[in-house]
Amino acid sequence: MSTKYVYFFGAGKADGNAKMKNELGGKGANLAEMTNIGLPVPAGFTISTEVCTYYYAHEKTYPPELEAQVDAAMAQVEKAMGKKFGDTTDPLLVSCRSGARESMPGMMDTVLNIGLNDVTVEALTKASGNERFAWDSYRRFVQMYGDVVMGLKPEKKTDIDPFEDLLEKKKHAAGVHFDNELSVAQLKELVAEFKAAIKAKTGLDFPTDPKKQVWGAVGAVFSSWMNDRAIVYRRTYGIPHEWGTAVNVQAMVFGNLGDDCATGVALTRDGALGTPGYCGDYLINAQGEDVVAGIRTPLRIEETLAKDMPKAFEELDSIGKILEGHYKDVQDIEFTVEKGKVWMLQTRNAKRTGFAAVRIAVDLVEEGKITDKEAISPKRIPADDLNQLLQPVFDLAGKKAAQAGGKLLTKGINAGPGAAFGQIVFHADDAEAIFLKNPKAELVLVRRETTPEDLRGMKVAKGILTAFGGASSHAALVSRQMGKVCVVGASELNIDYEKATVTVGGKTLKEGDFISIDGFTGEVFEGKVDTKPSEVIQVLISKTMKPEESETYQRFAKLMSWADKYRTLKVRTNADEPKQATQAVSFGAEGIGLCRTEHMFFDHVDEFREMILAGDLPSREKALAKLLPFQREDFYGLFKAMNGLPVTIRLLDPPLHEFLPHDHASQADLAAKIGIPADYIARRVHELHESNPMLGHRGCRLGIVYPEITAMQARAIFEAACKLKKEGLTVIPEVMIPLVGYVAEFKNQEKVVREQAEKVFAETGESVEYLVGTMVEVPRACATADQIAGAAEFFSFGTNDLTQTTLGISRDDYGGFINHYKENDIVPNDPFQMIDQAGVGTLMKMGVEKGRSGRPGLKIGICGEHGGEPSSVVFCHKIGLDYVSCSPFRVPIARLAAAQAALADAK
Ligand code: ADP
Ligand code: MG
Ligand code: MG
Repeated sequence: MSTKYVYFFGAGKADGNAKMKNELGGKGANLAEMTNIGLPVPAGFTISTEVCTYYYAHEKTYPPELEAQVDAAMAQVEKAMGKKFGDTTDPLLVSCRSGARESMPGMMDTVLNIGLNDVTVEALTKASGNERFAWDSYRRFVQMYGDVVMGLKPEKKTDIDPFEDLLEKKKHAAGVHFDNELSVAQLKELVAEFKAAIKAKTGLDFPTDPKKQVWGAVGAVFSSWMNDRAIVYRRTYGIPHEWGTAVNVQAMVFGNLGDDCATGVALTRDGALGTPGYCGDYLINAQGEDVVAGIRTPLRIEETLAKDMPKAFEELDSIGKILEGHYKDVQDIEFTVEKGKVWMLQTRNAKRTGFAAVRIAVDLVEEGKITDKEAISPKRIPADDLNQLLQPVFDLAGKKAAQAGGKLLTKGINAGPGAAFGQIVFHADDAEAIFLKNPKAELVLVRRETTPEDLRGMKVAKGILTAFGGASSHAALVSRQMGKVCVVGASELNIDYEKATVTVGGKTLKEGDFISIDGFTGEVFEGKVDTKPSEVIQVLISKTMKPEESETYQRFAKLMSWADKYRTLKVRTNADEPKQATQAVSFGAEGIGLCRTEHMFFDHVDEFREMILAGDLPSREKALAKLLPFQREDFYGLFKAMNGLPVTIRLLDPPLHEFLPHDHASQADLAAKIGIPADYIARRVHELHESNPMLGHRGCRLGIVYPEITAMQARAIFEAACKLKKEGLTVIPEVMIPLVGYVAEFKNQEKVVREQAEKVFAETGESVEYLVGTMVEVPRACATADQIAGAAEFFSFGTNDLTQTTLGISRDDYGGFINHYKENDIVPNDPFQMIDQAGVGTLMKMGVEKGRSGRPGLKIGICGEHGGEPSSVVFCHKIGLDYVSCSPFRVPIARLAAAQAALADAK
């Protein structure tokens, strides 16, 4: 039997279903599913992704069986629709649509109205009794086919599209504003002009044979899988290039047959804030992409559709309910109304902002549609998206002041919640270029509308503002997905790309001027508006709001309680100060996984410098004695803030050279302050200079050469702990020796620490429980983890250094090539952001296994930057770590990611 490449759907029954996304792509699988559950879907068939793979493996040719399978499926479509493709009395028209496993909005191509030529267009006129419609369809077909299949595109990005150019000129000559105002004669002229333009540019005649047209479109869709913007998109969202796209060929239904027809896109709930009820756009007497392309300003479904087309609205409403009930999630749908009847053309789980994700998940649980476990799945709430609920929002007072100062420019549609201010930039490429030079640049991309080409620029902008398009426009969709602040359809904006200005209400702003956009309300302000903490932060951290005053907080809290119910991995925080520590505990931290003691030294840098500069032991000890009380106070504060939770303190780690002044003036200053000759300081600075400080005299190597430093730190830790014990508080210090590679290094430092503990306990008459462990951050520690664990009582992976030392890539120097590496698919991700699981991760696994063979039940955590990155958290769970430690603001994210990891495990 030959392979099945083609899957029919129609007349209430489909070969495929929603589970077959790998074969049919998301669009094809869901068209099949909707057919199966009895929704009105025009008949069609899906050519599987396997054909795409074959196409690229065989020099853009098809499996030999394909043609016969396509012919057979087309015959089924004809039967279901009661029309024949290419017929000269009542022709069937089809669309040819791309559709990958994961939706890639606007990245690939679609051609509508295939099957039209000079003969069939007349037949369509007769059959429909609507000549304008027939020619409007033909005009659109030639335009799309000419672009997508025959390749007549603007030469440079900045050039105007050749078809749009002709269309504009025609409208201008006719004295009309919109495409739907053109007469039949004008449409006929346009078709001829389009064809001539194609011929002039490509030398090719426009194909008249409907069958040839279909195959041309199929090939173009497969080819669009490898177009530049699709490749960039896949890289951004981690979609493998091997997946390939499916192609859907589907009978056309028409939204451009008159005023009882429309085309629309909608979400079954609001994708920006998650509010229940339809949220979407429609256009009367229009087709396909018109709604999202910003050709005419679309109408809002929730506002006017019930009035414009009551029957269609009712149908759509019931379809929405069926879909949500069936998919148990908010759907993003595309539909067409043909003579009052609704046809479904697409459904998929809707993209949403972090705000909406949380609201929708909690609401669906409360509506009894999903369980709390389902609510926290990474598909519904990518852990990182919680970040949006913690970001600042505009301050009401700040907005009032801006308003009073006449800074409110206009109001658009709120499409991506949050507050963003930044400098105006009009082109995505410019945004990218500015960002490459200065990654801290704060930019707001201001455009008439955005297109898939703008993706990279949108990625680097803090906010996106468009003049056209509705809640389902490209800008809105992509911002929702990226979690960007976004305002669309601010139609009063008059943007002049040539002059690089935007004019509104008599004011003109230039490129580089500051602008502020409120993604909750759609307001646009001139200049910078002050921000304030989000509601979640106000409740948890600044305590300026009570929990019961914020619904957003309550939903957040509910979600976090579900996460805590299912996770097994503990979450700690990296914090050096009591304030940070307290914040982290409010975010749910269960201890400190890393306190970097050098941060404390920077606060008393002169005394510390004196210690470094000391020429002999007595003077070093004298300097250390000055530092001791500071350190003790710092530890006291931190322990107290953690109130019984474990605190891991890393002993001094960075190369000493970092602390010394490097220029003459500051050396002279220091000399005067601490009474040491400046030339001595200069000599010492010179001596301490290293050509590779990251691999130099640092970590435990410092304490081994200068044990008195370790002794002072240990004493400070235990004195603080004993003092608190006396005051009735529990303290569990965990002393961490950094950069250990040899067990002998560890033992050397452990001895110093334990001696101090005993001394302090004897002196104070108090004692506390404590652990001495190590930070695992060089490959040798992983390779000899069994030996090290024989002595060390806990491990904590320092994945920043472990990545540097495993890859031999310096984190301070990789900026010059990492982007090139990512863009050329040499590395899948930045290894300093996401654990390099195959390399560094393998060493970690080895460290865990060997470590626990040396000491059963060894407590192991991670305190590198990776500890708050969701995919790394999942990895840490998999390899059996006890906890992750991350910066305070990432604690909620890590909690959710840990629960997601535990639930994925349970499956
Ligand atoms: P994309 O993946 O970019 O959304 P689609 O394949 O969904 O592209 O096509 C875009 C739009 O074209 C659809 O939203 C729909 O409005 C219109 N369309 C596609 N196929 C048909 C069809 N068979 N009948 C009517 N409209 C269609
Ligand atoms: Mg679509
Ligand atoms: Mg380190």
